[in-house]
Amino acid sequence: MKRVQSINSTLNSHDKSPIIMSGPCSAETEEQMLATAIALKKTNKVHVLRAGIWKPRTKPGNFEGIGVDALKWLAQAKKETGLKTAVEVANTKHVVQALDHGVDVLWLGARTTVNPFSVQEIADALKGVETTVLIKNPINPDLSLWEGAIERILNSGIKNIGVIHRGFSQYGASNYRNPPNWQIPIELKRRYPELTMICDPSHICGNTEGLLNVSQHALDLNFDGVMLESHINPTAAWSDAKQQVTPTQLEELLQQLVIRTPKQMITKKTGELALLRQKINVIDDELLDALAKRMEISTQIGVVKKKQGMQILQTKRWDEILAKSILDGENKGLSKTFLINFLSAIHLESIDKQNKIMNDKTRA
Ligand code: PEP
Ligand code: MN
Repeated sequence: MKRVQSINSTLNSHDKSPIIMSGPCSAETEEQMLATAIALKKTNKVHVLRAGIWKPRTKPGNFEGIGVDALKWLAQAKKETGLKTAVEVANTKHVVQALDHGVDVLWLGARTTVNPFSVQEIADALKGVETTVLIKNPINPDLSLWEGAIERILNSGIKNIGVIHRGFSQYGASNYRNPPNWQIPIELKRRYPELTMICDPSHICGNTEGLLNVSQHALDLNFDGVMLESHINPTAAWSDAKQQVTPTQLEELLQQLVIRTPKQMITKKTGELALLRQKINVIDDELLDALAKRMEISTQIGVVKKKQGMQILQTKRWDEILAKSILDGENKGLSKTFLINFLSAIHLESIDKQNKIMNDKTRA
């Protein structure tokens, strides 16, 4: 594993507060870009101005970005406000043009990270260049693919690397546009503790109502900052209109965020937090013991099924367990999503144990 260094001070050279990146989903007109940038600067809270110049749209026929002309507006906005600038790049041409126009931060979009050919093309274009690169998670919940993109960019010699968590796409209805699956960025942070991690609540929520909650959650999980889409007139936006806020709304949102410092999180060994953690440790031990006992019984069931020539999977029985446990669990205040995930994991492990018995040639 290569060493990754924090790039917080590169993105936020002012102080140690969370990094705030904001700006429109897309650069649309010179007026929109400049008015948004100036209003964001006035909040005194934004460090990096973002704007989509080339837009990856799901279907053709939609607005696909202004292209290189908008880079001039961004350069102008940078000159007038002093804000650093960031754009999404998806190929060699984008990298070259963005760098030619003095863009400070390049980011790989979710639809690029998912494709190793594209990531490699960008990595090759970045050889010998000194810039800052942020890598969004791939659209699908695949940590290896995200890591693979980080490694490709690191291999190109770029040192200033960070990531943006924008949630993962899923089929069917959800409260989120892209559910966050927090365990994935948490595991990434565990593997690369120094990695600068920005959360993008706008693309996670797909609306403005959830932004504060998701931003707060990210900061409480030690994310280094947030990227929030903003527009001088969100309802008239040419892309992602539903999730953009005005610079004033952004300022209000940022004011409501509680910034918890590491100091507040650490308490003495005898402090309240330490005692609660001890309680949790005891319960986790009990949980593991109970699970081990349950799996022992699953193994015995496997032996019986083998003797009787029965199949392992009895879907009716599993449906009954699931329905009853979800009901009981919900009555105890546990969420349905958690219960389904938890019970499914137990079921899979149980099937695995029985499978081993079935295929164990040394057992009758
Ligand atoms: C964006 O930031 O506007 C964008 C297209 O994001 P993503 O790559 O996360 O979909
Ligand atoms: Mn967008």
